[in-house]
Amino acid sequence: MTTHVLAADIGATSMRASLVEVDSGELLARAQVPTRPEAGFERATERLADLLEHIVEHTGLRPAAAGVSTAGPLDPTTGTYQYPPNLPGWHGQAMKPALVGRLGIPVEVGHDATLAALGETRYGARAGARDLVYVTVSTGIGAGIIAGGRAVTGSRGGAGEVGHVIVNPGGRACGAGCAGCLEGQSSGSALAAVGSERLGRELRAEEVFALAQEGDATARAVVLEAIEFLGAGLAGLLATLDPAAVILGGGVARGIGAAWWRELLTAVGRYALPRYEGEPPIELTVLGDDASLLGAALWATGAAEASRA
Ligand SMILES: [Zn+2]
Repeated sequence: MTTHVLAADIGATSMRASLVEVDSGELLARAQVPTRPEAGFERATERLADLLEHIVEHTGLRPAAAGVSTAGPLDPTTGTYQYPPNLPGWHGQAMKPALVGRLGIPVEVGHDATLAALGETRYGARAGARDLVYVTVSTGIGAGIIAGGRAVTGSRGGAGEVGHVIVNPGGRACGAGCAGCLEGQSSGSALAAVGSERLGRELRAEEVFALAQEGDATARAVVLEAIEFLGAGLAGLLATLDPAAVILGGGVARGIGAAWWRELLTAVGRYALPRYEGEPPIELTVLGDDASLLGAALWATGAAEASRA
């Protein structure tokens, strides 16, 4: 029997929803609304429930459950937010009870990077892998970890914050204030800030990438520095977890993938253990932004139970 599951992904900017056919990983419908976290948690929950109901009506299918992937941090069992930096005012709140009430089906909530990693183990280029790490390199940097077939969530739901591993002691600080962490060196906000400072005008990360590709020496140096530190961080993950691969997603990863992939692999190779023989298993996601939606669908089904730590 084919199982259909509702899936949602909540980010700081937008909430996306879909109906997933679990066997095939096909997304049968897609819809999106702005998150507007500042307008309040209840309003956002209502708009997400509206969106999911709309998808059910539109497809005419009966979903068995709903899975929600969200920016965190949050408690992986109850889905209660714990001071989420990009969803201001949502601390202590949980969407699960209201969504169960509205939809009348079981609802499971999980951290977006963890669920993206879960999605990769079933539908990505490394489908079937029991040890896999997914790293979002975007405005911030975070990871989802699947080890021995189980999602690693940590004792407080805080595992996977690899963005705050120090790769450059005393270096640039991230928003959380740790000097020289990976996020402070290699995230989209770092690229934008360092690029703007050195080029003397306000630039976004994608503009720094574009200038670097056009041959601007300063922009090129900024990008290569960020790649060097990202290489060190990724080599640390390989050494710690020995995953089948580290899968990269997010806007900065796409920017690196477009023109700087060789440089990234070379940087990882500089810091990785000899066991990788200069060919570290670092790959760009083939699922794009769908990884977390697909993972949310799996999280909500019986298949996800086996993966839950
Ligand atoms: Zn940090």
